[in-house]
Amino acid sequence: MDASTQMREILEDACVLIRQAARVPHGTIQLSPEVAEMLENLEAARPAPAAMAADSASEPSSASPDASPCGAIEELERVVSVCTKCPLSKTRTQTVFGTGSSHAKLVFVGEAPGHDEDVQGKPFVGRAGQLLTDIIEKGMKLKRSDVYICNVLKCRPPNNRNPLPGEVETCEPYLIRQLELIQPRVICALGTYAAQTLLKTTEPIGHLRGKWHFYHGIPLRATFHPAYLLRNPVDKRKTWMDVIEIMKVYNGEFTPEPPGGSELFST
Ligand code: URA
Repeated sequence: MDASTQMREILEDACVLIRQAARVPHGTIQLSPEVAEMLENLEAARPAPAAMAADSASEPSSASPDASPCGAIEELERVVSVCTKCPLSKTRTQTVFGTGSSHAKLVFVGEAPGHDEDVQGKPFVGRAGQLLTDIIEKGMKLKRSDVYICNVLKCRPPNNRNPLPGEVETCEPYLIRQLELIQPRVICALGTYAAQTLLKTTEPIGHLRGKWHFYHGIPLRATFHPAYLLRNPVDKRKTWMDVIEIMKVYNGEFTPEPPGGSELFST
């Protein structure tokens, strides 16, 4: 990687962190003198825009200040599409990266592709997907294309078995990067695997739902997986309560307070 690409990546990561910090309520961002100086030096050393454009002509760049994370998301999708880091790459038809808006204010995270998703290369397109579409369109009054939908695993586990811990560990960096790039206002974790992976807990979904959590400073609501709701329609009412809370945050009517206040960086 050449120096200007590396610098762009460092700047992009710094911007992501600062945006995350700015998202929290009362939002002043305190940087340590060392970090502030490093960022100032990086900015001063940044090549002129013309040099940057020439340099990046052959590769997608996400670093121009007003650029959407789109280019970077597409680049990540290309990387994922040829991933062979775990044995699921041998049994998948194709990877299932994610669909929707790369500017989405709301991201849904499910567990792993099933048969239909593996065939179509898109998340939540089977029966559970139809219920998720109803939740988004009829419940939230949004379009599927307004939100972003992805899974913890990008490949289908054979016979729809549960993800193995090693598979989650191997695949999780892709999800982390997706969320870093999209920077949603709110995340909805669908079911046990998504909630436990994002929140680094082993608590069951029944305990995790019904309250606010935070993923890297972003408010996260865990709710039942649509496949579970198909088998247990009586619990749709609880998911509806979660949807109402998510929409308050989506619409900017409510900002959950992260525990420990808003100072992500301290001097
Ligand atoms: N279940 C999931 O968790 N994800 C999908 O994409 C489909 C079903």
